[in-house]
Amino acid sequence: MTDRTARHEVIGEHRLLVDGNLVESVSGRSFANVDPATEELLGETSDGSPEDMEIAIAAARRAFDETGWSTDATFRSRCLEQFHAAMAEHIEQLRSIVVAEAGSPLAMTYAVQVDQPLADLEWWAGMAERYGYERWLPEREVFGQRHRRLVAREATGVVGAITPWNYPLYLNIAKVGPALAAGNTVVLKPAPDTPWSATFLGRLVAEETDIPPGVFNVVASSDHLVGEVLTGDPRVDMITFTGSTATGRRIMARGAQTVKKVFLELGGKSANVVLDDADLASAISMSAIGVCTHAGQGCAITTRLLLPRSRYEEGVELAASTMASVGYGDPWDPSNLQGPLISARQRERVLGYIETGKAEGARLVLGGSVPASLPRGYFVEPTLFADVDAGSTIAQEEIFGPVLVAIAFDDDDDAVRIANGTVYGLSGAVTSASEDRALRVARRLRAGTVSVNGGMWFAPDVPFGGYRQSGVGRENGVEGFEEYMQVKALAFPAG
Ligand code: NAD
Repeated sequence: MTDRTARHEVIGEHRLLVDGNLVESVSGRSFANVDPATEELLGETSDGSPEDMEIAIAAARRAFDETGWSTDATFRSRCLEQFHAAMAEHIEQLRSIVVAEAGSPLAMTYAVQVDQPLADLEWWAGMAERYGYERWLPEREVFGQRHRRLVAREATGVVGAITPWNYPLYLNIAKVGPALAAGNTVVLKPAPDTPWSATFLGRLVAEETDIPPGVFNVVASSDHLVGEVLTGDPRVDMITFTGSTATGRRIMARGAQTVKKVFLELGGKSANVVLDDADLASAISMSAIGVCTHAGQGCAITTRLLLPRSRYEEGVELAASTMASVGYGDPWDPSNLQGPLISARQRERVLGYIETGKAEGARLVLGGSVPASLPRGYFVEPTLFADVDAGSTIAQEEIFGPVLVAIAFDDDDDAVRIANGTVYGLSGAVTSASEDRALRVARRLRAGTVSVNGGMWFAPDVPFGGYRQSGVGRENGVEGFEEYMQVKALAFPAG
């Protein structure tokens, strides 16, 4: 049964966290947080300006340079345990925030949207202590003398973390967890659409942990360009960013001025390759259900369904019936997997792609409109296009909505060519009755994660990231932890 009362119990956090203090923005201004499912005002958030960002960067710099945070892994681990305990205590509050401000289906909060980041933070707290920061190399003779050599990993410095709105709590923790565990100090700038998934974490850190002032700062803002203060400031050593490829390019270009380390998790247009001997129903569901989940607002969803020409119509019909069976509407209804898009602007963008698909000659099989039953909120029907040309706009560009495109292929080589035929390379899937055959195709995909016969790669110990224009670097896993560290080589004469 739908619990509609919970929506009204959402309590956000309107203050920023700067230098250990929960504060109003310097200007005193605030901005609206709107529920995308109802278009109603949830509340206000303090509107950070470039001036607030400057103060936060100075605090983070000071905390890195003048406290023992970067060198005391045991203390860091204990502080992150406190942070984890605070999150656990307020988990229902966080759940309400994510449903209300991101429009996330409640069901997803019991996995990736809320419970997963809670578990991940504990994993990062443990990583701070269990990671081996130093490694001795064998002695070596150089210029007639033997030397002992040590390779040490140490924190990078001040990290600017910039996050999007689709999985706000998950992505905030995916950056803040490893960055803090590795000994960095952090300034987090969340997306304007989902500020409380960050500011509430700021409150927990300020009130319930011993994390020293300045180590963790949260500057929410209605203005995307406040993020450019972070990307241009010479006191910031590294930017960790998740968002669109367009913004990623801009961040990389701006970061170049101070030769910043730039870590980018960007867009995707991943392919689900269904080989001709596969069990179609299970192979297709990854895309058909995936593209509806959270209204398709996920970077790693397999939004291109690649079907063998010999079984194409059968595959399209199965995809349509599967998508038609997915519950959508009120995100508080536990049976719904699809809620609204984040904003009116995003909905216009998705509807624009649907019009482009029709104009380019693709066959609209399902959906394509704003549902008549949901006049309020930013909803779009689950939408399926068939007979899609692999080079067309809707097959090439990331739509970030509940829109699946079905493309026919001739043989395995053709499937690989189409799968690799976009500028992206984030994820993918291959299904076959033969694991060997599926694996052969999977190895040829130019993508950072690939599901083979329905395998699930998503976990804190699995590195995740993109080839080509889907990003630079890896999030999660030991590889993800090491992104936040510098490498120092030390050499000593052997006795
Ligand atoms: P976006 O790029 O518009 O914004 C992301 C963040 O960047 C926001 O906090 C925004 O305020 C900030 N920003 C915008 N312009 C900036 C600038 N010039 N300088 C500094 N910061 C700036 O992305 P979005 O629309 O919020 O999110 C959707 C995108 O995120 C999709 O493309 C999706 O694929 C991508 N995404 C990628 C991953 C991944 O791990 N690869 C995960 C989730 C989402």
